[in-house]
Amino acid sequence: MPLKLYNTLTRSKDPFEPIHPPRVDLYTCGLTVYNYAHIGNLRCYVFEDILKRVLLSCGYQVRHVMNITDVGHLVSDADQGEDKMDIGARREGKTAWEIAEFYQAAFEEDLRRLNVLFPDVWCKATDHIGEQIALVRTLEEQGFTYRIDGDGIYFDTSKLPDYGKLARLDLEGLRAGARVEMVAGKRNLTDFALWKFSPPGRKRQMEWDSPWGVGFPGWHIECTAMAMKYLGDRLDIHCGGVDHIAVHHTNEIAQAESALGHKWCNWWLHGEFLTFPRGDAEQAARMSKSSGEFVTLNTLVERGFDPLAYRYFCLNAHYRQQLAFTWEALSAAASAFARLKREVLELKRNAGDGREPIDSHLDAFRAAAEDDLNTPQALAAMWGALKDAEAEKPRIYATLLAMDEVLGFGFARMQEAALAVSEEEIEKLIAARAEARKAKDFARADAIRDRLKEMGVALEDTAGGTIWRKE
Ligand code: AMP
Ligand code: ZN
Repeated sequence: MPLKLYNTLTRSKDPFEPIHPPRVDLYTCGLTVYNYAHIGNLRCYVFEDILKRVLLSCGYQVRHVMNITDVGHLVSDADQGEDKMDIGARREGKTAWEIAEFYQAAFEEDLRRLNVLFPDVWCKATDHIGEQIALVRTLEEQGFTYRIDGDGIYFDTSKLPDYGKLARLDLEGLRAGARVEMVAGKRNLTDFALWKFSPPGRKRQMEWDSPWGVGFPGWHIECTAMAMKYLGDRLDIHCGGVDHIAVHHTNEIAQAESALGHKWCNWWLHGEFLTFPRGDAEQAARMSKSSGEFVTLNTLVERGFDPLAYRYFCLNAHYRQQLAFTWEALSAAASAFARLKREVLELKRNAGDGREPIDSHLDAFRAAAEDDLNTPQALAAMWGALKDAEAEKPRIYATLLAMDEVLGFGFARMQEAALAVSEEEIEKLIAARAEARKAKDFARADAIRDRLKEMGVALEDTAGGTIWRKE
């Protein structure tokens, strides 16, 4: 069965074909590093990781580029307001450069803890100002740009007949409804900044000379310039969250296709939101950094969760469905994941080398994974293999290892990781469990006990407190 992926451009699940098989060129929009990634952002990177692993398991060679947005992502989609990096710098009394460095490292650490495969190229916007200026120049030479004095260089979207095709923007409706605030001097509501001037009389922490004046690049030009630098004039797949469809990716297409004069990227894949039920109405709200209400991977770890339990939680939902985050739902996923790990470790103890995986289970698994990354069904296929009473245990283990190449839980390394746990980490988890018990959150307390058990640590609650020993 050929790999099928849902392409936002066609709005259908289509058989995947790369331009230069067996190579697949993949660009994923990276984090805006003015704060920690929240677990909604991380859901998106887990989805992209599954995509990459499925491509690899289909025999493709993936060239993967991911950017780091460390300048130019303004608060408003209308290219106005503060640069998010400046907000981070003010919040913490540091420079924008320090903020970027710190949160990029934190982001990489988050991805590592979630077993997300790293891109072949990480590229920072601030390291590619020359490429961005060159791309704006090309657009200028071709007549796609105009200047708004005191503001910046803008892209004239009316020059592009199919502007908005990705989002199927209703341009008339947009103009009438004016969802995006109209900036003085803009010719069309959908026009966007390619280069912004530094505010008059104020030096920004991040600013550069350009043919138009001192300033900084727009957010959309960053991704397009870097994708074109590292992956060339035609791209197989470009990914991000659904919030990128209407503005960021729409504008990336406008820039690239105007500069190139031909179609740029064949496949656009978008991950749905992690939502955050809140209030009495349990009204699902998108988790976002700017709203300030967000949960990080560190928060989960502090509460005693294994980062990979969060990976399991994400994979239990299809990437094109919204997923509501609650502690209860995460606890349930953590228990299921703990059970899975226990069973896998048990199998591993008795597994011999070189056993063949079981085709029927692997086929069911692949059919799910290759059907637009249907991870809930793929997980079900994994459990199906585990529960197969007829099959030889070593073959079940071999099957699970093959599935794990795609799911990315790291079963092969799991035991060593569990044994390598430090005393400090154990003490931290015991403290988190005590907190949970004090708060009468017994589900979480039990989840932490289970997690310690997987690490080979047994607890005993005594009058003098909890004591532990390695089994
Ligand atoms: P940003 O740091 O805002 O550029 O976002 C990083 C990535 O996370 C982008 O691909 C976004 O589309 C995605 N994203 C943002 N919020 C959420 C959310 N609540 N759930 C899932 N993905 C999100
Ligand atoms: Zn991007």
